[in-house]
Amino acid sequence: MNAVIPLHLADAGCADAPVLRERGQREVFCGLTGIIWLHRKIQDAFFLVVGSRTCAHLIQSAAGVMIFAEPRFATAIIDERDLAGLADANEELDRVVSRLLERRPDIRLLFLVGSCPSEVIKLDLSRAAQRLSQRFLPSVRVLNYSGSGIETTFTQGEDACLAALVPELPELPESPTQAPQLLVVGTLADVVEDQFRRLFSAMGLQVNFFPPRNSQALPAVGPGTRLLLAQPFLGDTARALEGRGAQRVAAPFPLGVEGSTAWFEAAAQVMGVPPERVAQALAAPQERARQALARHAQALGGRSIFFFPDSQLEVPIARFLARELGMRLLEVGTPYLHRQHLAQELAWLPEGTPLSEGQDVERQIERCRAARPDIVVCGLGLANPLESEGLTTKWSIELVFTPIQGFEQAADLAELFARPLLRRQLLAA
Ligand code: SF4
Repeated sequence: MNAVIPLHLADAGCADAPVLRERGQREVFCGLTGIIWLHRKIQDAFFLVVGSRTCAHLIQSAAGVMIFAEPRFATAIIDERDLAGLADANEELDRVVSRLLERRPDIRLLFLVGSCPSEVIKLDLSRAAQRLSQRFLPSVRVLNYSGSGIETTFTQGEDACLAALVPELPELPESPTQAPQLLVVGTLADVVEDQFRRLFSAMGLQVNFFPPRNSQALPAVGPGTRLLLAQPFLGDTARALEGRGAQRVAAPFPLGVEGSTAWFEAAAQVMGVPPERVAQALAAPQERARQALARHAQALGGRSIFFFPDSQLEVPIARFLARELGMRLLEVGTPYLHRQHLAQELAWLPEGTPLSEGQDVERQIERCRAARPDIVVCGLGLANPLESEGLTTKWSIELVFTPIQGFEQAADLAELFARPLLRRQLLAA
């Protein structure tokens, strides 16, 4: 296994590296996809997409073949009569929502999710949400956000959803004697959240998570909040929380041993936990993770990888694969490069890593063909054509659906890349 290169203040990596910016045709999923992991997390929420049959199919296929006794997302279909202006879409929406809430008293938070069709007919979902909230509060809160696919990428759905929830968070009372409160922001699988809670608790820290599992338990926010991002695609949410006074903790993301260690250390430092206590709390999981990762180092070390922009997780994952597993980064493409939130990650990327932001898909495919990487990370739409050209691919959407954060998941993250390479080897044998 490759030794982890410690970060020194002098490390610049790709902090100031030039970035190829492309603004051409894009091959990405829309923000509706976020509903798949958000509905699992907030267990009393319901996501009602106001969209077309295409939107309904997209969510269904992203969700895979799931049979729900009581599904927690659905699509209110905008049909030809709505599009032609023959029906009052607001009246229809009110009727659909009333029927839904009558049938489902378990729903406490309802999101009206905008789509391309609802935007085309200029249906004002924020007014609809206000109107419906007035009618159904206190039992149901109705909010809205847009999951529309125009010029977005699929993880932006979570950002838009959480940003819509920020104004609903209670105020954290200001007091000079009150210690700061730590808030981890970004959807994490429950198993990861439980592990993180245990590790913070071993350091003597109480922590809140946003989004919470229950919409009735929204964390308070204010100037005493220290916000620790768990996902790199939450620019709007972080801005909204900062607007409420929260202060962001600068940290890399909790991917791999190195990223997870630095993430916990950054939070602990801001919260005044002595370094020895942090080291003690992290020692055992770090050791387990290093041992588990060693299994994959041989399969991945020296192999080359090319990232198409899709999930916005590309930079931290590339950093993990390069530094902890010795992979060679041929291009790291990301839909948006948030320099501030990714500052530590960029500094950790090997110097000279080609970076690109946005997409001109044809040109990028040409670069990928020329580079002949051992593995390509891309969206579903590009995977099959690239596989048919003999390239090995990994769907970027899996990186969001799979628990990958933290020490216990570091080897699972490595395995996501090792498995397709092994499969290709077996096919070639
Ligand atoms: S891109 Fe637009 S029309 Fe297509 S599924 Fe997404 S919101 Fe619906």
